[in-house]
Amino acid sequence: MPTHRPVRAPAVPRTGFAVLDPATGETFDEAPDQGPDLDAVVDAAHDAWHGWRAAPAVRAGALLAAADAVEAAGTELAPLLTREQGKPLAESHAEVVRTAARLRYFAELEPGVQPLTDGRPVRSEVRWRPLGPVAAIVPWNFPLQLASAKFAPALAAGNTVVLKPSPYTPLATRMLGSVLSSALPEGVLTVVTGREPLGARLASHPGIRHVTFTGSVPTGRAVAESAAASLTRATLELGGNDAAVLLEDVDVDRIADRLFWAAFRNCGQVCMAVKRVYAPARLHSRVVEALAQRARTVAVGPGLDPVSELGPVNNAAQLARVEHYTARALADGARAAAGGHRLDRPGYFFAPTVLTDVPATSPVVTNEQFGPVLPVLPYARLDEAVEAANGTGFGLGGSVWGTDLDRAEAVADRLECGTAWINHHAELSLAQPFAGTKESGAGVAGGPWGLYGNLRPFVVHRPEEA
Ligand code: NAD
Repeated sequence: MPTHRPVRAPAVPRTGFAVLDPATGETFDEAPDQGPDLDAVVDAAHDAWHGWRAAPAVRAGALLAAADAVEAAGTELAPLLTREQGKPLAESHAEVVRTAARLRYFAELEPGVQPLTDGRPVRSEVRWRPLGPVAAIVPWNFPLQLASAKFAPALAAGNTVVLKPSPYTPLATRMLGSVLSSALPEGVLTVVTGREPLGARLASHPGIRHVTFTGSVPTGRAVAESAAASLTRATLELGGNDAAVLLEDVDVDRIADRLFWAAFRNCGQVCMAVKRVYAPARLHSRVVEALAQRARTVAVGPGLDPVSELGPVNNAAQLARVEHYTARALADGARAAAGGHRLDRPGYFFAPTVLTDVPATSPVVTNEQFGPVLPVLPYARLDEAVEAANGTGFGLGGSVWGTDLDRAEAVADRLECGTAWINHHAELSLAQPFAGTKESGAGVAGGPWGLYGNLRPFVVHRPEEA
């Protein structure tokens, strides 16, 4: 393990932008607007690429050292992340741990060389080549963890990375960049911060060979358009509207806690949160009450307060969206079994909300609320529930909850999404392919697929005789 040194983020130039603490709604720091530096940063990533791509063993060692450095800096990274993102401190620590784990996982993955056999007297093989500078663009809900999901496979594959965090959460990522620079050669990973159009400029920069983007569907579409113009590879991990389908034999008391946290963790700001629950009509009111009871009693407060289990929504625009979707559902005839309103305190706090009697056409059901609001809908026939679960434009994840695991698995198999769980939700393995279907994404991240997503095949044919 490296010795622990205090982490010093790079000095902020005067052209900065405000970073707000969502627990107060007030500015607590600034980050630099680095738009003007972008060309120089991409050039540096290109220059650094030649050395980085040529030394796989050095790369693996550097990524392992980077993982140790990240872990050692956890006590400084986690509070800063909580301050700008809002999540409880324990969850920020978990992000740091996950970031280090991902670096270690990819440090040990190698693409290898694959021989091709088609009966011809030629020795043919596929060797995998890195692409060049990669643009990694991430949102504000898991700034460190999602950044590592991009830079760890990209770097392991021999690319260099320009990483752009959300302007809502630039600070912990800047600090992370500084921590990583102790283990990586200069220019191999550079963090750039700024407001739009920085992301758009980065995604369409001619020096970028792969754009790996996580964010909303509309922004993903814009990124895909600019990547298409320059024929740059784009990997898109986009929004979700995951359904949890409860079966007739579900044990409500046993699963209620797990289901609640699958929907409300990180204040519901998880791409793969449970965003709709379908319960058999016979059990519907029990499910609503079990979830509402937890929503009424969970400790909501600033993430730095050790008793807080849920923090604020991250930003004012997201809070307005959550408020709007909830008000619209209530106006359409829904009832709040818990919450339904902002909390009367400074900051962006919204009461954990469980909605019942929600029309199936309400935007809180058909769209992505991305906040602490959960509609629970009854169904009469299982086919109806599966059809409704599959009935949106999204296809990220889904889950089925019941006692008979074979039956639950058969229902899970019918979900149109990238990952389905039984009696759980949103628990991901570092080794799994991560890919939404429909509008939830394009391309595959995660596991060996994530490594190959950052490589191109290079084929050599060599005859057996000269
Ligand atoms: P967003 O799309 O508004 O922003 C994402 C990132 O893109 C930010 O860094 C932003 O500054 C940048 N950006 C904005 N406009 C851009 C442009 N024209 N070109 C390039 N970059 C641009 O998303 P958000 O509000 O930050 O995050 C919430 C969304 O992210 C939700 O929809 C959520 O489901 C999704 N998300 C998906 C996953 C996944 O893995 N599928 C994971 C987390 C979050």
